Amino acid sequence: MKQKKVIMIVEDDIEMRSILKLYLTNIGYNIIVADNGDDAYEKIRHNTPDLILSDIMMPGTDGIDLRNKLLKNPEYRIIPFIFVSALGKIEEKIKGLKLFVDDYIVKPFDMAELVVRIQSTIKRSEYFNDLIKIDSLTKLYNRKTFFKELEKEIKRVSRYNTQMSVAIIDLDYFKKCNDTYGHVFGDSVLIKVSEFLLSSLRETDFAGRFGGEEFLVAMPETDKEGAKIVIERFRKSVQEMEFEIPGFRITFSAGIATIPEDGNEGDDIVRTADIALYKAKNNGRNRVEVFDASLQSNITIV
Ligand code: GH3
Ligand code: MG
Ligand code: MG
Ligand code: MG
Repeated sequence: MKQKKVIMIVEDDIEMRSILKLYLTNIGYNIIVADNGDDAYEKIRHNTPDLILSDIMMPGTDGIDLRNKLLKNPEYRIIPFIFVSALGKIEEKIKGLKLFVDDYIVKPFDMAELVVRIQSTIKRSEYFNDLIKIDSLTKLYNRKTFFKELEKEIKRVSRYNTQMSVAIIDLDYFKKCNDTYGHVFGDSVLIKVSEFLLSSLRETDFAGRFGGEEFLVAMPETDKEGAKIVIERFRKSVQEMEFEIPGFRITFSAGIATIPEDGNEGDDIVRTADIALYKAKNNGRNRVEVFDASLQSNITIV
């Protein structure tokens, strides 16, 4: 199910606030209300909205102050922001628009117009967010996004008392591939392996690029044995994959760890999966190993 977008309405006028809230709720948004800038800032810290609609004239911290405060924080300044104000003189509008806002709407306004302006601002922000979430070469989640999604899933695992497995995949002798055939060909290998990885995952699984030629796969609701079957199947397909250079083959090694038995946090689980990966490399590469506690003490990192 698609999650509802959250709009914050910052408005001191009770009547205006309730009209906006009612209307926007009816067309499918979740609403947070605040009656001045301070109240808004506090609420943003707890629940980041997808868009802020802010009045300007309000007691205490007004809309201009709020906007200035948000601009100081890199995380908050990218939240789409629209002023909705009775201040309609050109110099007043310019003052607001100079604060890098997405739009400035003068009261009284037409509700239908406000709605399309909101929708288009949210849509553009969505496009932008999709872009910054994804690794441009492989189209997998980038590292930051992967860990963010992983943390979300970890919360679900503990809430519902289930399991989730994480695999770390590292291409074998990839440096040699670059050295022999060049970086451009190396990139095409990364792209092809990633495309195939994406197409072979189940809907609830997700994958990210950990760095260089290393990938992470999260498999919710999957125990170790299940995860091993999935990654083993993937390994067999990759070793048979054909590339532009006839006869060229790539393989990978992978390590698997499972939540909660091998760790309860994102970093932890990737670390334990990495220990299993190390074993796979040591045992000859082109293989999948699962973590078990005995590996922890045997490990010597060189
Ligand atoms: P191992 O089997 O032990 O993993 O050997 P390896 O050569 O794969 O490992 P190593 O970590 O020594 O080398 C990884 C190489 O991946 C080094 C770097 O040139 C290459 N690499 C990292 N990122 C990229 C990239 O974006 N494009 C290309 N073409 N190569 C990359
Ligand atoms: Mg007001
Ligand atoms: Mg590596
Ligand atoms: Mg490698």
